[in-house]
Amino acid sequence: MDAEHVEKDLAKTLISEDQIQQWLAELARQIEQDYDGKPLLLVGVLKGAVMVMADLARHLSRHVEMDWMAISSYGSGTTSSGVVRILKDLDTDIMDRHVLVVEDIIDTGLTLSWLASNLVSRNPASVEICTLLRKPDAMRMSVDVKYVGFDIPDEFVVGYGLDYADSYRNLRSIATLAPHVYS
Ligand code: 5GP
Repeated sequence: MDAEHVEKDLAKTLISEDQIQQWLAELARQIEQDYDGKPLLLVGVLKGAVMVMADLARHLSRHVEMDWMAISSYGSGTTSSGVVRILKDLDTDIMDRHVLVVEDIIDTGLTLSWLASNLVSRNPASVEICTLLRKPDAMRMSVDVKYVGFDIPDEFVVGYGLDYADSYRNLRSIATLAPHVYS
């Protein structure tokens, strides 16, 4: 879905489809260098990271395995509490594996710091994190994020996997919503 198809619902496009794809291509080259000679498992966090994972994997000119986790973080409405429950665990045993977590967005970082320590406890060879988007609060978190696409303002965004009430995930760009959508 292009922005023009839901033009009335969107306040502003923050990141275009071209910008996203260009970053993913650059990230893929960097990953090829950093993991040269090492088998790599990409771990996507459902559902938001589906688009990032699918496009990143296709930009890579090497083999990768892909696995998925679904987690729910308890919070009030649009805020995260850091209390996390696994809804779907990995199918793969990650012991001695090189793991790269693929995320859509880091806001407070609470979900991700829980996920990172959960994965580290399974004794992988390495765990790194990449995220398409990062909000300002995430800068204060203790977890090291190796690859960051775009730093964005502290606003609620949709598109490219990110939803509002389960819609807008298939928007090709990242945008903020017009106020009437929330009311
Ligand atoms: P954190 O634990 O980092 O605060 O929360 C991360 C999760 O909150 C993301 O994986 C995403 O599901 C959700 N989230 C945070 N900010 C946004 C946003 O601007 N838009 C959408 N659609 N989800 C968000």
